[in-house]
Amino acid sequence: MDDVQGRELRGHVAQAQYRAFAEKMPAFYFTLIVGVSIVSLYYHGSVPTWLTTVFPGLLLPVCTIRGIWWLRHRDDEVPAEVATRQLSRTTALSLILAVGFCIWDIMLFKYSSHSAARQHVLLVWSCATSTYCIVSLLHLRGSMIVVSVLTAPFFASIVLWNGEGSLGMVAVMATFVISMALASRDYYREFTRMQELTISLTAQQRRVKALSDENLRIANMDMLTELPTRRPFFADLQSACASDEAGRFVVGVIDLDGFKSVNDAHGHLVGDSILREVSNRFSRELARTVTIYRLGGDEFGFLYKESTAEDALHALGQKIIDTIREPFQLRELRLCLDCSIGFAVHVAEPDNGDELYEQADYALYHAKRTGRGMSVIFTHEHARQLREQGMVENTLRSADLEAELYPVFQPIVDTARGRTVAFECLARWKSPVLGEVSPAAFIPVAERSGIIARLTPVMLRKALAVAATWPENIRLSFNLSALDICSADRTLEVAGILEKGSIHPSRIDMELTETALTDNIDAAHSNMELLRSMGVSISLDDFGTGYSTLSHMHHLPLDKIKVDRSFVTQIETNPTSQKIVRSIKALCGDVGWTCVVEGVENQEQLDLLQELDCHVIQGYVIARPLAVCDIGNFLAAEERQCKSARDESPVMQAGLRLAGADVPRR
Ligand code: C2E
Ligand code: CA
Ligand code: CA
Repeated sequence: MDDVQGRELRGHVAQAQYRAFAEKMPAFYFTLIVGVSIVSLYYHGSVPTWLTTVFPGLLLPVCTIRGIWWLRHRDDEVPAEVATRQLSRTTALSLILAVGFCIWDIMLFKYSSHSAARQHVLLVWSCATSTYCIVSLLHLRGSMIVVSVLTAPFFASIVLWNGEGSLGMVAVMATFVISMALASRDYYREFTRMQELTISLTAQQRRVKALSDENLRIANMDMLTELPTRRPFFADLQSACASDEAGRFVVGVIDLDGFKSVNDAHGHLVGDSILREVSNRFSRELARTVTIYRLGGDEFGFLYKESTAEDALHALGQKIIDTIREPFQLRELRLCLDCSIGFAVHVAEPDNGDELYEQADYALYHAKRTGRGMSVIFTHEHARQLREQGMVENTLRSADLEAELYPVFQPIVDTARGRTVAFECLARWKSPVLGEVSPAAFIPVAERSGIIARLTPVMLRKALAVAATWPENIRLSFNLSALDICSADRTLEVAGILEKGSIHPSRIDMELTETALTDNIDAAHSNMELLRSMGVSISLDDFGTGYSTLSHMHHLPLDKIKVDRSFVTQIETNPTSQKIVRSIKALCGDVGWTCVVEGVENQEQLDLLQELDCHVIQGYVIARPLAVCDIGNFLAAEERQCKSARDESPVMQAGLRLAGADVPRR
């Protein structure tokens, strides 16, 4: 045990002694006062009066004051130094009292006129009081020794000196007192040992607690950003829902836009540095307003308790977005990011934090879909959509996909030749419960819930069977989801179906969206290579809606790019859209990709695209998605038109549109 521990132990023992001692002191002084009073009354008249008045008159007030003092302070928690001081004071006082009472005892004994009274003094006072002293002072070795050492010889010498007792009796009394003293000494030792044990246990407990606090801190802290993690986020959210803060706070979820692309393009070290910088910025700019948690990847969460007003939330959202928009300078690399935010205000319901988080997450999903770099607050309309999606999901789960799903096919036409080069297979679902459900409604649900893993094989088999009936030069374009291309198992299943299909894989284009690819680029890349090794071509669908950088896409094994409908919608009026389409077309020319423009709805758009040298076109201007039974007619009409109007503009003349050929629009 080192010096510090020794000091700590002594202090701790003094405190324990003080506590044990303080408890007994009032009773001890009370007994003393009663004993002295009885003896004084008993001897009053038979000994000189000063002996039963002056002595008790001096001793009793001291005992009374001390007794009252202990009574008032017996529950005090005193520091170690005070306890030590009080105990020394008590030892000194017990010496004074012991001496005082011994003298008084001797006097009484001396002046007692007959033997019985003397015996009485000895037995009642000396024995009983000294025993009580020893027992009471067990915790205070100094006092105990003072009292017992003074009482025992005094007791023996008085008895022998006055010839009142035999040596045997003295021996018995002495043995009694000595054994009491020895027992007290053992008790004191045991008491000290217990205190040592307690102090070492307390120290151990303190160490274990510090360790477990540290473990908890580490478990609840994200090592990269040093922000609290999901676990404390959900714990705090749950307790906020359960507390009286209910109805007065907001959950926010932040997602960095385009972070995955940065990570993929510049590596994980750059990604990590960005996340650290994001966390620093949050701590700098928002620490006073909210605590930010890292929920995983590039997703952050927070609870906001200052206001639930829409304006305040959008202002907070804008502040967060501005914080992230500040360019990130990583040595010579300068990167710009955006972020989207979803808010959910806690009203009376739900009382469950998970549900509130889902709402904020749904609002975030909308923020991302409606443009990114913005914040969206969860509304009643969102709640309705969520309920609807829940219904779609439940129905889809128990649906007989083989019987209820069917494909329709939208032509992709080479306007330069006036020929259909491919049909894109688009899924349709006729549910016996919900009726005809738009793919815009059920495909995202199937993707989120994983049902897409059952849906893709069903659709692919059906599409292959239909495509087998087409002329050899017409390709099949088929949509794969992120889950299909990011999972080796799913891709192998797709490959297995292609192998068994009755058209050669080289007639197939697999359409993948940018987001499907950026979800897990490495896995997607190797699975794409697998399909390509079978002869399948890969098209990048909805190009321009994701966040992939062109240089990044360059490394992917792609064959076609499908320019998203959003660039075509205003192409007649918006010069920027024209510029974008022109540069995508130029890029495709450079890299050797085919450029397909989708969502072309009218003649002006088509004319403009022809000017931009974009000839592979898909859209309502050509045809809406066709039912299987209409494909034959469509191709026959195309053939006829091509033959009869070979010298004129093929698309204009082809009259390829089949009125009312399809079914639900987006
Ligand atoms: P997508 O792959 O971008 O398919 C094109 C969507 O645009 C189709 O909607 C089509 O009907 C629509 N469209 C075509 N031309 C025009 C046009 O000129 N104007 C407008 N406004 N829309 C046009 P649809 O059939 O509702 O499909 C929606 C989305 O659902 C598809 O978008 C695709 O992402 C997904 N999807 C459809 N079938 C499947 C499938 O079998 N598997 C997977 N994974 N996704 C599918
Ligand atoms: Ca597609
Ligand atoms: Ca598309």
